[in-house]
Amino acid sequence: MAASKSAPCPCTSGKAYGACCQPLHVGEREPEHAEELLRSRYAAFALGEIEYLWKTLHEDHPDRQKPMDRTFMALRLASSSLKYRGLVVVETSKPDRDGVERALYLARVFRSGEDVSFLELAEFLHDGKGLRYLAGRTKDAPNMTAPPAGLSFETF
Ligand SMILES: [Zn+2]
Repeated sequence: MAASKSAPCPCTSGKAYGACCQPLHVGEREPEHAEELLRSRYAAFALGEIEYLWKTLHEDHPDRQKPMDRTFMALRLASSSLKYRGLVVVETSKPDRDGVERALYLARVFRSGEDVSFLELAEFLHDGKGLRYLAGRTKDAPNMTAPPAGLSFETF
């Protein structure tokens, strides 16, 4: 599913796709910080940009240790079987002394009408070429339309 540049970006930033995640998906530039990376990955799931999801998986991420075709299949399934309804970023961090950036967010996702939204605390690390998704810890958050008050890195 190709998205038009003038359509709203599926990461729900409120910007047009061509001015938001599209330049990242086509490789014109690399994400510069955690929020850009997580937004562009969310939009990539929504649009079926599987190559981008693979490219932005850090080589130390567990899914990179599996055979590539299996990970591609799992990414394709997650992309095609789910509806991506919105992303709310709660908190992001600057790189720590190991270069790891963190982000906490609510991903609103539906499977066949069922709300399978989740909260995730994700870690990102530069691999020499760009910022990549290193690891994530999730909590189910069905029927959550906004992050709970007081949610932070410390309370997650
Ligand atoms: Zn976007």
